[in-house]
Amino acid sequence: MAPAKTLWRKHMATDSKLAILGGKPVRRKPWPKWPKSDRQTEQRVKEVLRSGRWAISGFNNGQELYEKEFAKEFASYHNSKYCVPTDHGTSALTIALEAIGVGFGDEVLVPGLTWVACASAVAGIGAIPVLVDIEADTTCMSLTDAARKITSRTKAILLVHSYCAVADIRGFTLLSENSGVPIIEDCSQAHGSKWNGKRVGTFGIMGVFSMQETKVLSCGEGGAVITNEKTYYERLQQLRADSRIYVSEPINTGMPELQDFGSIQGRNYCLSEIHSAILMEKLKVFDKENQAREEMGEYLRDQLESIPGVNTLTRHKEVDNLTYYHFCLRFNLDVFENVNIEVIRLALIEELGLYVERLDKPLNNNSLYNPLRSPRTSDQNRNHLDPKRFSLAVAERAYSQCLLLHHRVLLGKRSDVKDIVTAIAKIKHNASSLINY
Ligand SMILES: *Cc1c(COP(=O)(O)O)cnc(C)c1O
Repeated sequence: MAPAKTLWRKHMATDSKLAILGGKPVRRKPWPKWPKSDRQTEQRVKEVLRSGRWAISGFNNGQELYEKEFAKEFASYHNSKYCVPTDHGTSALTIALEAIGVGFGDEVLVPGLTWVACASAVAGIGAIPVLVDIEADTTCMSLTDAARKITSRTKAILLVHSYCAVADIRGFTLLSENSGVPIIEDCSQAHGSKWNGKRVGTFGIMGVFSMQETKVLSCGEGGAVITNEKTYYERLQQLRADSRIYVSEPINTGMPELQDFGSIQGRNYCLSEIHSAILMEKLKVFDKENQAREEMGEYLRDQLESIPGVNTLTRHKEVDNLTYYHFCLRFNLDVFENVNIEVIRLALIEELGLYVERLDKPLNNNSLYNPLRSPRTSDQNRNHLDPKRFSLAVAERAYSQCLLLHHRVLLGKRSDVKDIVTAIAKIKHNASSLINY
């Protein structure tokens, strides 16, 4: 890997004082922006604003709902039969769990290191998140630990594809078949990833997505559930629209789009027409963007091979398309003079003028996950809900070794990626100057 080596030498020869210690930063140029808008999206939003119909709970205006159109497109993108859009990924998780009948006291396997919503959505419907340790090389749920934690009370496995890795789909499919416990895939960080020719979200009985601003497909705040089961589809619709479903017959202008149904208790988690219109446009450019990210992500992976002590996540050989939500860097801190990962993070922020993140904090000790402080927690399930009862050694180690770069850094040029490599090489070369930072 000659190019990165050259960059590294350049820094040995030139001013190599770290930016965090007052030296010259590697980069001052701005990074590609996220989220991105364009003329067509702005036009669509304007159309919705003028159409007089902003929500699916409104009245027909003679046109197809954007929400319905997006649902159709998103389902077909996945070769899936049904899609129910929601206002957030958290709502999508909630209704997916409720649709398969997860309720009070049921256990759900949740990765011990992921966004807090995975655990809080489970606890939010009275069920018990059982925190499972992760695999070191992918940061996704560990198959071995999951198998160990299945009991007769386990009602679902919430399989999350994390950062820029696809979980061990083959292993988990087998575990699900053998145990009879269904998988719900959380693809909020993996829209578009493909495993053996099939998109993630279609291996479990349901696939859940978030379209929040930072995600690779976004409308600000939004979500969706996909499934092939008609019964689930009927329940999902009601769960997100106060127990209503779409009117089945063609409707006249001025009449409501939703009809009462009432076979299950729903709430209002509907995605607005404005958000749906944005998603319609973003979906059109999605594959192209995702491919650009993947190419750049793989390029960054190659370039990093020239810096011993910096590793990336494993890409299983079955993965045909990989989505980069965050590029995960794993540091062997021995070769960084055992400087704390937090100091390396701050140093990298200064070199690049870019917000660099830690992994999610393991959920057995994460200030965002407080099931015991919720008034819904009863004495009966208090012990089960205590996150501290789980030990998550691999997750804790990963948390102390990894940093994340948001996918927008992969939407520019190769020179952007080279700046990242240069900055890391510079920090490594000067790690001793950070020992007492
Ligand atoms: C973002 C995210 C969610 C939650 O989605 P919101 O739209 O923020 O509610 C759930 N799971 C994972 C893995 C996520 O990354």
